[in-house]
Amino acid sequence: MKFETLAIHAGQEPDPNNGAVMTPVYFTSTYMQDGVGKPRQGYEYSRTQNPTRKALQDCLAALEGGSYGLAFASGLAATDTVLRLLNADSHILAGNDVYGGTFRLFDKVLRRFSLDFTFADTTDPESVAEALTPQTRLVWLETPTNPMLRITDIRAVAEIVHAHPNNPLLVVDNTFATPYLQRPLELGADIVVHSMTKYLGGHSDVVGGAVIVKDKELADKLYFLQNAVGAVIGPMDSFLVLRGIKTLPLRMDRHYENAKVIVEFLSKHPKVETLIYPFHESHPQYKVAKQQMRNGGGMISFIIKGGREAAIKMVEATKLFTLAESLGGVESLIEVPAAMTHLSVAGSQLDVDPALVRLSVGIENSADLLEDIKQALDKA
Ligand SMILES: *Cc1c(COP(=O)(O)O)cnc(C)c1O
Repeated sequence: MKFETLAIHAGQEPDPNNGAVMTPVYFTSTYMQDGVGKPRQGYEYSRTQNPTRKALQDCLAALEGGSYGLAFASGLAATDTVLRLLNADSHILAGNDVYGGTFRLFDKVLRRFSLDFTFADTTDPESVAEALTPQTRLVWLETPTNPMLRITDIRAVAEIVHAHPNNPLLVVDNTFATPYLQRPLELGADIVVHSMTKYLGGHSDVVGGAVIVKDKELADKLYFLQNAVGAVIGPMDSFLVLRGIKTLPLRMDRHYENAKVIVEFLSKHPKVETLIYPFHESHPQYKVAKQQMRNGGGMISFIIKGGREAAIKMVEATKLFTLAESLGGVESLIEVPAAMTHLSVAGSQLDVDPALVRLSVGIENSADLLEDIKQALDKA
């Protein structure tokens, strides 16, 4: 089945008890057993398994071209569970432009548990090769990155990582692209991670995370950790993400259509110093982006002339673009990462230009969006 069909049907069957077409929200913590140690359909306790969560997990696996999906309470809960695959003293190589919260978890929390992190420029596969050590057990990529929209060639990095004698796990945070635009498992990654809070949910009404893998042994270890650590997503939130995913292909195409109109406008605007968009010829990894992504997505970043002050003036002047953190919803959002989402990386090597403005372009009418950007830039 093709992507659009899987988005609506994968993991979901009419309910065998009553024919309900949409997956019911199974608000139950426990399940009746027919005898001691004889759960009726394999369900015992909802931290371990829940039918609504299972439908979502199976759908995620199908969309990423994987075999096993796991859903968590947030993107960071998913990330934390993946890192628990490692033993103390493991080395992790991560991109030097990962999501601020991922950096904070690695640098401020997991370092205290004897994990060692190096942050390198993964857009250059050579610097990945140089940064691997004999202790490297995991390589963490984000592409496109947040908020710089840097692109890493997943296939090229996968070849380097899998040639290492430890065969480290290659993890790709696919939040910005979604499986509709990019499928890392097909390009050689071992694990895909998502913040479902963003495009998968798509309506800014739920927080969730996902992990998808192909390998059975790896999946078993992760299911063990999912249950043992317990950072699971609830049934209502699972339902909301399942519902959001049904329109993912439609939304992603529209996000792109609208983004193109705004990119075109910004590329010629005198107040824009640097435009950053993966599908614009000026992007340093334009060719790689075109190769591994179906379209350029709905995220646009740009450095505005006039520094931090101009950036703040502009984002406070929009009327339709809401000034807010997060991204990937149907509604358009605007923010200044250095002062908002990326405060936690201030002063670190992931520091973001204070004049950088980030747009999450929604699926409203593009003429209305353009009008808003125009008038806000005039006031900056
Ligand atoms: C938001 C985000 C996360 C963290 O996800 P939460 O659901 O907020 O925990 C991780 N990676 C990327 C790229 C993100 O944008």
